Amino acid sequence: MSALVNSASSREPSRIGIVGGGLAGLAAAVALAESGQSVELFETKRRLGGRATSYEDPQTNVLIDNCQHVAMGCCTNFLDFCNRAKIQHLLRRDSRLHFIAHGGRRNDFRGVNWLPAPLHLAPSFLQLTYLTLKERVQICRGLLRLSRVSLTSDPGQSTIGEWLRKDGQTERAIRCFWEVVLVSALAESLDRASLAAARKVFVDGFLNANAAYEVYVPTVPLQQLYDQVASHLSTQHTSIHLSKPATSLRPATNEVQLVFDDGSSRAFDFVIVAVPWRRVADILPPELSKVSNAATSITSSPITSLHLWFDRSIMSLPHAVLIDRLSQWIFAAPATGVYYYQVVISASRDLAGRNRESVLDEVLQDLCETWPDAKQAELIEWRMITEQHAVFSVTPETERQRPPQQTDCPRILLAGDWTQTDWPATMEGAVRSGYLAAEAILSQLGIDKPQVVPALEPSWLARWLRLT
Ligand SMILES: Cc1cc2nc3c(=O)[nH]c(=O)nc-3n(C[C@H](O)[C@H](O)[C@H](O)COP(=O)(O)OP(=O)(O)OC[C@H]3O[C@@H](n4cnc5c(N)ncnc54)[C@H](O)[C@@H]3O)c2cc1C
Repeated sequence: MSALVNSASSREPSRIGIVGGGLAGLAAAVALAESGQSVELFETKRRLGGRATSYEDPQTNVLIDNCQHVAMGCCTNFLDFCNRAKIQHLLRRDSRLHFIAHGGRRNDFRGVNWLPAPLHLAPSFLQLTYLTLKERVQICRGLLRLSRVSLTSDPGQSTIGEWLRKDGQTERAIRCFWEVVLVSALAESLDRASLAAARKVFVDGFLNANAAYEVYVPTVPLQQLYDQVASHLSTQHTSIHLSKPATSLRPATNEVQLVFDDGSSRAFDFVIVAVPWRRVADILPPELSKVSNAATSITSSPITSLHLWFDRSIMSLPHAVLIDRLSQWIFAAPATGVYYYQVVISASRDLAGRNRESVLDEVLQDLCETWPDAKQAELIEWRMITEQHAVFSVTPETERQRPPQQTDCPRILLAGDWTQTDWPATMEGAVRSGYLAAEAILSQLGIDKPQVVPALEPSWLARWLRLT
């Protein structure tokens, strides 16, 4: 350690290699470059972004995202990253969430600014008339109990599904409320998702702070965000190498050799491995086999998105949450002259045995039942994209396997949404992990520069109710 601190005091920038150009790797790069380090990032694909990415559609040559990605107001690190990388203007903020139940009944969910959290959402919640009054009262009580659950007395064993049933929540309340929020937020079914992750969604995302529930939606294909991030990094003397897969790491006393698939290698003072859990064992050295084994045991959860182009508008809202339907969220593309919509189905395991046309038919039926005018619209094009390994499955077992960013080899760090971040698989988790890895390197260099941004300040009422 002292050797590392000495090298910092000589003020030579450290050479830092980052493997993986997803949000975790990019966040680490932004943080380290700002601190004056010499950063090189290596990405195996031709594009940055990893799992939050765009494709060029081979039939139309149009850039489309693998899936609409959204963040929330509680994603303080992701939003900080957007500010630092100067892409915040490419996100819009939706502070009114549109829930639509069977029969087309619409309830808007909106915070009241002058009421302290969690009361700010009470007026909207009480107007969720697709739930009976009894269900609403039962859910409120459940939310209070969930926020006060002691996770230390539940050593990572329970799923949220088990907890809700023990709490006496009815099947209908589970299907029409708990599942609606949690399956999209965690991309996992309630019978698998951990109690801790579910609690976090409600406490951090809705109950603690007024701005937490707001949704941030990119207004351009994700690729355009990364183009800006890359150009920002180039002004910080950071090199990005695309189509450059790393194959292994060789730690030595004073450096780490990073080896590439063409047989070449490069020496760095530190290397951050920011690849998904399924790839990490390919790269890590035998000294870190414990981490490799833990990563290998983590399972995945799929997300499906349907991209639909119609000849006319089918809804006037920027987004909608459909209750108790196969189609969970629908997003309208910004006015570009084409009527392009994305329907998102998280934790889409059940679609595995179905053919694509039957999934499309059910989604179209969802849309036509929700907006009867959609029956007149002609579907011009459609694509269905399923990412089988969209996110790590946030089960109680996974929670116990997630490794910290620091490893037993001090010059090798981990980053990625799947590492210990206290967050489920999200862009926020990815950015946090990148910041944590950067922070750990800077600290080894004797530079005390916190990178992780704190959570939103809880309201006085949330503190008084002990929701935090
Ligand atoms: C369909 C879908 C929808 C989602 N929706 C949302 C959402 O709405 N909101 C949200 O917050 N999150 C969402 N997520 C999750 C979010 O995309 C991820 O949590 C986040 O992007 C993970 O970032 P990461 O950097 O940790 O990993 P990744 O994005 O997986 O990045 C890892 C990178 O490492 C590269 N790599 C792998 N091996 C090597 C190697 N040997 N050498 C060099 N590079 C390598 C990969 O190509 C990849 O680019 C969604 C994910 C998917 C797939």
